[in-house]
Amino acid sequence: MGDACHHHPHDGPPDIDAVRRAVADVDARLAADGERMTPARLRVLELLLTAGEPVKAYDLIARFGDDGQPAKPPTVYRALEFLERKGLAHRIASISAYVACTSGGRDHAAAFLICDCCGATEEVSSPVAGDLGRAAETAGYAIERTTIEAHGRCPACQ
Ligand SMILES: [Zn+2]
Ligand SMILES: [Zn+2]
Ligand SMILES: [Zn+2]
Repeated sequence: MGDACHHHPHDGPPDIDAVRRAVADVDARLAADGERMTPARLRVLELLLTAGEPVKAYDLIARFGDDGQPAKPPTVYRALEFLERKGLAHRIASISAYVACTSGGRDHAAAFLICDCCGATEEVSSPVAGDLGRAAETAGYAIERTTIEAHGRCPACQ
C-alpha cells in the first residue's frame, strides 16, 4: 500500500430523494404519535441524513439555512435534543458529533463502531443493552439513554 490511509468511507453522494422520503416518513410516523416535527427538526434531520456520517453541531448550524444563512445555535441544539429523545439521532460523545439513527428510530440502546482512521461509523444493535438494563434495575436506576462507543479500524482501514 504505502499510501497514507485517508480514504473517505462514503459510497458517493446521498440520494436526495431517499433523504426526502425518509424525512417525510418520520414526519408521518411522529404525527401519528401526536408529535410534531417543526421545520427546524425536519431540517436538522434532513441535514444528518444527507451527511450520512457524524456531523458536528457547528456544521449543522452553518448548513442550516437553504440560503446559506446559519441558524441560531439554540434552534439546532433544541432540534437535536428532540431527535435524540425520539431515537432518530444519536450523539457520539467521543467525537462530539451527531448522526442520524440507522436502526429505525424508537427508543433503543445504540452502539457505534467508530473508525479512528477514516471516521466511518456504523450503528449496530447493542449486545450489552440487556445486561446493562438488568444492572440498572438492580441499582435502582431508570435509564433514559444508552450509547456505547467502540473505537478501532474499519475493514477498509485495517
Ligand atoms: Zn439508533
Ligand atoms: Zn476506516
Ligand atoms: Zn483509513
